[in-house]
Amino acid sequence: MKAGKDAVVRIHYTLSDATGLAIESSRERGEPVAVLLGRGGLIAGVERALEGRAAGEQFSVTVAAEDAYGPRREDAIQRVPKKYFQRPDRLKPGMVTTLALKDGGRQTVMVRKVGMTTIDVDTNHPLAGRELSFDIEIVEVRAAQPEELAHGHAHGPQGHPHAD
Ligand code: ZN
Repeated sequence: MKAGKDAVVRIHYTLSDATGLAIESSRERGEPVAVLLGRGGLIAGVERALEGRAAGEQFSVTVAAEDAYGPRREDAIQRVPKKYFQRPDRLKPGMVTTLALKDGGRQTVMVRKVGMTTIDVDTNHPLAGRELSFDIEIVEVRAAQPEELAHGHAHGPQGHPHAD
């Protein structure tokens, strides 16, 4: 079976930046990650590179920022009143914190500047604007099960590991 839309792949990957510095690896967590292809679960450049490949293949792919986490946007710097932060007095430039959103979600942001009553935060993805390299090993390719297709994501070997 070849990787493609509606297939589930299990992969080990190591993500590095353009200088070869490792950023994260699935091997640190031990288990390969399972992804249902064709549903936006992977960045576009990696999904395209997996297309048509089979279990056992190992390859490297370099992905431009546009096909990874997108360009950095300067308008993603926002000035937010301190009351929206949990512990604003502990925050310093360069620290990463979470911000509660109006819709109930949370967003990870980086502190840029701390003022008297407001804090400037960068809401860009930490990897936005960066060319990324992936070393990938395909552990398994299988057809998605009907339940996985209905949910739009891969399930683990024990069936359904999550609550929603
Ligand atoms: Zn599910």
